[in-house]
Amino acid sequence: MYRYLNDLHVLRLAFLLVSASIAAITAIGCGDDPAIDSRTEVSDVTSVVGAPPRDDTLRVVSRAEPLPPDVAPVLVELSREVAAPAAGQLLVTQVTAAALHELVAAAHSAGHDVRVVAAFRSYADQEQAFQSLIARIGEARAVSTGTPPGTSEHQLGTAVDLGASSTEWLLDERFTSTPEFRWLQEHAHEFGFAASDPAEREARNELPSEPWHYRFVGIEHAARWHDSGVPLITYLRSTR
Ligand SMILES: [Zn+2]
Repeated sequence: MYRYLNDLHVLRLAFLLVSASIAAITAIGCGDDPAIDSRTEVSDVTSVVGAPPRDDTLRVVSRAEPLPPDVAPVLVELSREVAAPAAGQLLVTQVTAAALHELVAAAHSAGHDVRVVAAFRSYADQEQAFQSLIARIGEARAVSTGTPPGTSEHQLGTAVDLGASSTEWLLDERFTSTPEFRWLQEHAHEFGFAASDPAEREARNELPSEPWHYRFVGIEHAARWHDSGVPLITYLRSTR
């Protein structure tokens, strides 16, 4: 046993020596400034991967637990093929974009035209919308009925509002009577999306007040949430 460990130690030492030699040769071999080269590589990786400081995929967002202004995920723009025709620029995280492409394609194969109507909304945008609401209906009513900044899952970059061509992409109560809505209820979790009710209705079997609002939580968690039958916020709290 001792001899085995000793051999391992020698092997590791040999490996370190070889690695150091290769590093030295590489550094000498680079005609340009190697320090600049390595900085370039690091920033390239950051721009591709995004490297958010923390993972907010399962983060609970509610009136009691609002997001601070510094929750600002790295985002990509959704391509037109998954966006509703009149939608402006739609931003989501990279994994959410990939999952949306698969979901929209699968819905299309099943004969449904489901696409994204709304996506990321920054803290500043929410703040601005809330101030306009206060100006319109007064602070007391805005606080009780509106969405104060930080309380929208759209700030995570993983929440989207999905519309259907059969209801001309409008987000209203008619959406729940569409075949697209039923398809989403049955299949969205297979792509990592959970129906998430921002109004936090926790009663079972009650239709959500925003039935078009979906949030990407990953396929594994979406499947568990779907099997659990509980509202998403209840499920997310159970994962803490
Ligand atoms: Zn929404």
